Amino acid sequence: MSHVTVIGAGLAGVECAWQLARYGRRVRLVEMRPGRMTPAHRSGGLAELVCSNSFRSVEPSMAIGLLKEEMRLSGSLVMVAAEATALPAGKALAVDRERFSEWIGAAVAGQERIELVRAEVTGLDDPLLEGSEAVVVAAGPLATDELSASLRAAVGEGELYFYDAIAPIVSAESVDMERAYWGSRYRPEDDDYLNCPLDEEEYRGFVAELIAARKVPCREFEKEIHFEGCLPIEEMAERGEMTLAFGPMKPVGLPDPRTGAEPFAVVQLRAENRERTAFNLVGFQTKLAYPEQERVFRLIPGLHRAEFLRLGSIHRNTYVNAPRVLTPRLELKARPGVYLAGQITGVEGYLESAACGLWLGLSLGAAGRGEELSVPPVTSVLGALLGHLRCVRPDFQPSNANFGLMPDLGRRAGKRLRKELYAARAREAFAAWWAGAPRPE
Ligand SMILES: Cc1cc2nc3c(=O)[nH]c(=O)nc-3n(C[C@H](O)[C@H](O)[C@H](O)COP(=O)(O)OP(=O)(O)OC[C@H]3O[C@@H](n4cnc5c(N)ncnc54)[C@H](O)[C@@H]3O)c2cc1C
Repeated sequence: MSHVTVIGAGLAGVECAWQLARYGRRVRLVEMRPGRMTPAHRSGGLAELVCSNSFRSVEPSMAIGLLKEEMRLSGSLVMVAAEATALPAGKALAVDRERFSEWIGAAVAGQERIELVRAEVTGLDDPLLEGSEAVVVAAGPLATDELSASLRAAVGEGELYFYDAIAPIVSAESVDMERAYWGSRYRPEDDDYLNCPLDEEEYRGFVAELIAARKVPCREFEKEIHFEGCLPIEEMAERGEMTLAFGPMKPVGLPDPRTGAEPFAVVQLRAENRERTAFNLVGFQTKLAYPEQERVFRLIPGLHRAEFLRLGSIHRNTYVNAPRVLTPRLELKARPGVYLAGQITGVEGYLESAACGLWLGLSLGAAGRGEELSVPPVTSVLGALLGHLRCVRPDFQPSNANFGLMPDLGRRAGKRLRKELYAARAREAFAAWWAGAPRPE
């Protein structure tokens, strides 16, 4: 009987396989561990959490909290497993990682439509994939070199990346416009960038704090990244007190309209979306610990009350330039019948990866019955996350779930009310979408 092959039994792979099975489709789920391990996994268990044991906040006014609701509503296996193996963790959903993985393993073993095969897939033409109606690549951020090379050959040299260097993103409303000003280099009339000026004392104080701040240690397999020309901002700062002033914080061509003079240094913020509701700190990819990022970056004039929609990171991460190489149904434009799910598409995070697998499983499951599942609305969290994968831009980068990915509310509101309005709109949009979706068995 025909089947769908899913490569990788991580968070996206098991969720996708499970949803396919719910629609009555046969699935071959191929996982290489424990025969071959990734540099981060430690076991042969399915859906192993490689680092933190938390699925982050359950707060319904946060995008990640709402994503949990959306996944629960649409029948997520990962959400049921997480809740069954949860540990007390305040407003976060944290799990006992071994029990979580075992729970998923038992569920998959008990689902007769899923055949778990322990083997490595070496490329898109691997004989293991023969006879599949469709192939889902859910091999994650640490997909093997051989499979990545095959994927790269399919999508094109420049469209698959091996690491991400993410700068923090702040909401536009939280930038203090008494301090910040518009203008790009030598073009003061432009409004592509917001500039936060620092005088000499502010600059030196900021650099000192940046150097002293707590960093996330670099894993052995990530060290090569820094040699590829992608230096964390704090490492640049350590090379000399003026390195940043001559680098990413260069003030040349950016006079402050209030004084007419170039400041000592400038932090440039670049718009993240057309509506310019969110801005990233240009060149500020960082390995600072999350709480340290908030503390240190709020020392920048204009960002004292910054609301961080996403924090920075530098990771080993295999992902494609999704808006260019994938269709809205996550199918490779260059290889019809091959789909991508999880972190390899350019979503970021355990839950986001699972959510991506969930949607693809539902979509392919419905398609197998000759029905079409529409893409969720971009005003929902899942829809916004998938929308990110369709948004063509010169510097496509992975994203976690956040309200900055959603269309603007179209009205001004304070921070708390804004979150509530985003949440109410998302909840309504997702419920309406799900109500009209073809049901699994
Ligand atoms: C070091 C590291 C730490 C991270 N920490 C966090 C964190 O704390 N919190 C968070 O939210 N996110 C974290 N992430 C990001 C991301 O959420 C996780 O990597 C998540 O597991 C991604 O889910 P996935 O299903 O896409 O990939 P994975 O869960 O990695 O699953 C991919 C599976 O594919 C298998 N595989 C790979 N290649 C092949 C092949 N050729 N043949 C067969 N099987 C193959 C792998 O063994 C693996 O089981 C981290 C990422 C990394 C790399």
